[in-house]
Amino acid sequence: MLNLRACPKCKTGAIGLIVDWDGEYFQCLNCGYALDLRPVAAPMNHLGKHLGPEQPITGGEGAAA
Ligand SMILES: [Zn+2]
Repeated sequence: MLNLRACPKCKTGAIGLIVDWDGEYFQCLNCGYALDLRPVAAPMNHLGKHLGPEQPITGGEGAAA
């Protein structure tokens, strides 16, 4: 799903739907501007920043039953 030239920041970037571990959001593929679809209130997200081109690094979880 791409919305060409729909970026409110750079005006020319294509907005793609990014599905991440903490939700889904639209992000400009050109400048990295992220548009949140819903408020992120997860207690683990205490870094206070969720706007940015960088992705949270998540390693393998040792969730053995
Ligand atoms: Zn952009």
